[in-house]
Amino acid sequence: NYYAILAENQKLHNELQELKGNIRVYCRIRPFLRGQTGKQTIIEYIGENGELVVVNPSKQGKDGHRSFKFNKVYGPAATQVEVFSDTQPLLQSLLDGYNVCIFAYGQTGSGKTHTMTGPESASEDEWGVNYRALNDLFRISQTRERTYKYEIKVQMVEIYNEQVHDLLSSDGPQKRYPSLAIVIYFVFLDFHTLGILSTSQTNGLSVPDATMHPVASTFDVIELMETGLRNRAQGATALNERSSRSHSVVTIHVHGTDTKTGASLRSSLHLVDLAGSERVDRSEVTGDRLKEAQHINKSLSALGDVIFALAQKSPHVPYRNSKLTQILQSSLGGQAKTLMFVQLNPDIGSFSESVNTLKFAERVSGVELGAARNSKDGRDVRELMEQVASLKDTIAKKD
Ligand code: ADP
Ligand code: MG
Repeated sequence: NYYAILAENQKLHNELQELKGNIRVYCRIRPFLRGQTGKQTIIEYIGENGELVVVNPSKQGKDGHRSFKFNKVYGPAATQVEVFSDTQPLLQSLLDGYNVCIFAYGQTGSGKTHTMTGPESASEDEWGVNYRALNDLFRISQTRERTYKYEIKVQMVEIYNEQVHDLLSSDGPQKRYPSLAIVIYFVFLDFHTLGILSTSQTNGLSVPDATMHPVASTFDVIELMETGLRNRAQGATALNERSSRSHSVVTIHVHGTDTKTGASLRSSLHLVDLAGSERVDRSEVTGDRLKEAQHINKSLSALGDVIFALAQKSPHVPYRNSKLTQILQSSLGGQAKTLMFVQLNPDIGSFSESVNTLKFAERVSGVELGAARNSKDGRDVRELMEQVASLKDTIAKKD
């Protein structure tokens, strides 16, 4: 029957996600931009299975080469649609009650905002992960109408100099101050009625004073995001300056109610556009710039330490060391799924920054990636994917 097929489909989907591991790292290389023709690229090789070789063209011989391994590497020609297709399964996990965190890491200009949001006033083709994720949530929740009723709400905050500000307050940016408090508390829920989730979930409401906005359509989402982006830009002293020195966090709260039993399920998705990871030369900056650089450095290191601890399955995970990791706590670790986009600028002028970025990524991903490639119960990922696809077909025919 319909419910049995749906349950089986979800179970297989979750198994498939388990096999892939809870932490995944995708590398994305942006294209050269207009006016950059003739520049030398550092990209030497991109493999189908996530291999990446970069080379410093100014260094001869083996010394200039470095190779890395990710879950996935997207070359400069990858489209927003392609990138999202590998992210999409996490949204199904979200609706099944898992917390999810997706973030973009890289130096300023490497394409973080392009991946997460897309260009300003983007057409649908150019939409980034944020818009696509919300759109997809609406779509999937409709296909589940018979079993679940979902409510979706959005918050958007900025973390600047370890202070948290609401980007969606109708009072405008002056309401940014003082910094909003972060509360971390846990809500334990009943077992999922389908028996898929066996452990309790944590609630992702970490900034309770940031305004909460119910969304029901793509139109609502576009309006909210535009407000948020406008507010984010307003604190800037020079155009776009501030956005590269603050983290922006869009949080999507999902509340599902089982239409039969009334049991409820809560989960949250954090979509994070991180501050630029570039190293700032301490001898050259002073005052506000130095303070900003120190805050960014501290929070990105804290994030790296948390993910590293999780990947190592360390008993102590140092969430407390930054506002960023405190806010994201519910969607990092435990059963939560984490996806990091590592963004690269292909230009040789960025070689050393790119290597720093890649080293950060390698450190946080190394352990988990090895484990994630193993298969469980003799079934491999492809086999499971085929089963999921065929079950989806069956469900589509039923509808
Ligand atoms: P960041 O947020 O990391 O500072 P941006 O996303 O603003 O970087 O990207 C810098 C510039 O490169 C922007 O003009 C952006 O539109 C462009 N860009 C980034 N990634 C891509 C891509 N994949 N395709 C086309 N243009 C891109
Ligand atoms: Mg940006």
